[in-house]
Amino acid sequence: MATSSGGGSGSGGGGTYSYRNGATHSHKSSSKLDTHTHKPLSLNSSSNSSSKNHVKSKSLGPSSTTQRRNSTTSKDHHPSVPGRVRVAVRLRPRNAEESVADADFADCVELQPELKRLKLRKNNWDADTYAFDEVLTEFASQKRVYEVVARPVVESVLDGYNGTIMAYGQTGTGKTYTLGRLGEEDTAARGIMVRSMEDILADVSLETDSVSVSYLQLYMESIQDLLDPANDNITIVEDPRTGDVSLPGASLVEIRDQQSFVELLRLGEVHRFAANTKLNTESSRSHAILMVHVRRSIKGRDAGHSSENGNHPHSVKSLKPPVVRKGKLVVVDLAGSERIDKSGSEGHTLEEAKSINLSLSALGKCINALAENSAHVPFRDSKLTRLLRDSFGGTARTSLVITIGPSPKHRGETASTIMFGQRAMKVENMVKLKEEFDYKSLARKLDVELDKLIMEHERQQKAFEDEIERMATEAQHRLSEAERNYIDLLEKEKSKYEKDYMDSIRKLEDQLAMNQRKNEDSHIKSRAEVYSEELADLKKMLQKETLLRKAAEGEVNHLKIQVSELKMSEASRKSEILKVHKMLEEEVHQKEKLEREIAILQSQLLQLSLESDQTRHQFERDGLEKDVSSVDSLTSQVKHQQQASGNGEKPSIAKLFEQVGLQKILSLLEAEDADVRIHAVKVVANLAAEEANQGKIVEAGGLTSLLRLLQSSQDETIHRVAAGAIANLAMNETNQELIMSQGGISLLSMTAASAEDPQTLRMVAGAIANLCGNDKLQSKLRGEGGIKALLGMVRCRHPDVHAQVARGIANFAKCESRASSLGTKSARSFLIEDGALAWIVQNANNEASSIRRHIELALCHLAQHETNARDMINGGALWELVRISRDCSREDIKTLAHRTLVSSPTFQAEMRRMRISY
Ligand code: ADP
Ligand code: MG
Repeated sequence: MATSSGGGSGSGGGGTYSYRNGATHSHKSSSKLDTHTHKPLSLNSSSNSSSKNHVKSKSLGPSSTTQRRNSTTSKDHHPSVPGRVRVAVRLRPRNAEESVADADFADCVELQPELKRLKLRKNNWDADTYAFDEVLTEFASQKRVYEVVARPVVESVLDGYNGTIMAYGQTGTGKTYTLGRLGEEDTAARGIMVRSMEDILADVSLETDSVSVSYLQLYMESIQDLLDPANDNITIVEDPRTGDVSLPGASLVEIRDQQSFVELLRLGEVHRFAANTKLNTESSRSHAILMVHVRRSIKGRDAGHSSENGNHPHSVKSLKPPVVRKGKLVVVDLAGSERIDKSGSEGHTLEEAKSINLSLSALGKCINALAENSAHVPFRDSKLTRLLRDSFGGTARTSLVITIGPSPKHRGETASTIMFGQRAMKVENMVKLKEEFDYKSLARKLDVELDKLIMEHERQQKAFEDEIERMATEAQHRLSEAERNYIDLLEKEKSKYEKDYMDSIRKLEDQLAMNQRKNEDSHIKSRAEVYSEELADLKKMLQKETLLRKAAEGEVNHLKIQVSELKMSEASRKSEILKVHKMLEEEVHQKEKLEREIAILQSQLLQLSLESDQTRHQFERDGLEKDVSSVDSLTSQVKHQQQASGNGEKPSIAKLFEQVGLQKILSLLEAEDADVRIHAVKVVANLAAEEANQGKIVEAGGLTSLLRLLQSSQDETIHRVAAGAIANLAMNETNQELIMSQGGISLLSMTAASAEDPQTLRMVAGAIANLCGNDKLQSKLRGEGGIKALLGMVRCRHPDVHAQVARGIANFAKCESRASSLGTKSARSFLIEDGALAWIVQNANNEASSIRRHIELALCHLAQHETNARDMINGGALWELVRISRDCSREDIKTLAHRTLVSSPTFQAEMRRMRISY
């Protein structure tokens, strides 16, 4: 060990010494300074120091806070910087007792603060000199002690390093004074704890950073909570991964202001005093440990740090957790370092004394081991060394202040303390930034963000669902509205169509009714015409009948008178009765004879009259009389003839007829003599012309005889006259049926086929024409060839024949039309079936009015039946109907044709097609 004589003690020491605890410092194996080789010990001397690992100390260079902050950036996230334990020595001034007791003695130490040296006197002429990082004289102020010993550590803690400030020394040398003075009575007296907290609180932002403290006492290997004395056996927990130790059982009080911290320290002091009283010890025997946890968020001010190291891809930049620095300042006020045996007076057993000092001696052993770079450091030997594992040989920045007293009496203890300090100076720490990502805070932040997002999502989801629901409701409304509208529209349309339909039905019904009325009118009209004609005829017949009846009545009256005369004369002439009877018989014979004569005379008379009739016909044929159109005219001819023969003739014929007897006349029809037959048939024909006789003739078998004559006779005159008679008889409906039932149609057809005389044909045609007018006989007549026979007769060009044919066709058509209107006929007309249409159309505009009228009527009748329309159109009948409806001179026929055309849809359609404006 190098020694040097004390070159005078520097006291006080001017200027402010920077005391930095981050620089590498080379030191010799012994720290005892060789006077001639010593170098000033300064933290700033790192630049010329021979660093073990050559890591620059720039990070801990400047002392100002601003500079310090700027300096913390490092390429390495958690740089480990070698940092030796810094040791300062502080000398307590002499107290009153020492001033008195040691008044004659010099202090055992001499300080050279400017040289940072301490001389420990061995004797009056010899002293050992020791170099320390800082030498604080008895005049050193608390402020200065704080600044050189504690502030660098505090600043390191604020930067995120662990820091330890520890006082070591004999009891009564000022450890507590240095560390724990509250300075309430004198601000200048404030110790390191209070000042540290002042600096910490001044530097942190309580919004983002937090400061919390635990305050503990370690006594006899038991850790007590000075903030909660009941908690007196706190266990140390070590993180097996990092080796970090913690005291989860200790109270951790968050500090937000200086005053509450001071209160806390005072409370701790009170508790410490109470505890030591209870344990029958003194505070000097226990270790007091203050732990200050500084947790700082450096998100904003050191943003570049994490991205620079390139460990984080850009994609997670936004999720980069905030960086926190957790510095822990441990301030340890150790138990007195004096040897235990010196305090044996305190009444502890040796074992107790060993236990009391176990932690302190273990600390000494650890520091020795560290100082000697020993492979094994017995940290686990005591709780104190376990707690201070990071402070010595760990990652903390550690500053040790050793306190010594000036008294030579305690020179041994002082020397021991100095040696402890010297060894501690050799302890090399690897200070390491306690920086980590604050995943919890990030997680919290992310949780908050997530919750916000979840809430927002829920809100949006709700809004979306509401919107969907609103849209659905709206759509439903619209749909139902559309449905309602559709139904309304449908209803309206439906009622409109129903109304239209009903209107159409009504119109059609009206039209139908009108048509029916029209039809009825036209029928009534045409029938009325026929009936009126028939009525006129009947009236005439009735008049005749009346006259005949009156004549017969006159006869009856005359006979009655005769009978009464006879009766009156009977009584008087009883005797003459037989005579008269005989006379009567004779008279009867006479009468019969006369009657035969009368019959002959009468037939002769009729022959004469018929001959005159023939003459007249011949005359007519010569064109004097043109319009002979019906069988009615035959009757009128007979009448005319009779009239021509004189008014007196007819009653005489009648009389003759009565006298001869019908039966006899009819029997003459079959007489062998042809002349008689001719006369007889002429008589019968004449009689048949009188309606009054017709019944009798038929009753007497006249009709049958006449029909038989058609068959049996070859004589055309007989045929002609017989046909005329049949024609007259055929005016009666009963007779018509009789004629039909007796094969009249075939007989008449045969007659027509063989006839050459137009008059014969005229008669035959007239007979058939009459039959044509019977509704009941239509199909039978047609079936037996009636229509064909009629049509066959037109081969004769005589207009009289044509007129009868036309009449027959008109009659037939009339009946068919009636049948179709009654619904009993639906098929097309037999006339059309039998080929009559061509002739009808051909003669529709015949110049002979007797033909034309009948044809016109026939056309109208045919056209009544819609079934005939198509054939009529094809046969050219439509043109004739149109002509009739326009040009017919007879107004009634013209109107009928018009109505017929109007009421037929087929004709209407055809006319539209042919563009016939109608
Ligand atoms: P320790 O804690 O080491 O046992 P203390 O701090 O209790 O010692 O100090 C013992 C006494 O010495 C106290 O009365 C204290 O006021 C006084 N004292 C200690 N250091 C100084 C100093 N530097 N200046 C003035 N008085 C001091
Ligand atoms: Mg003390």
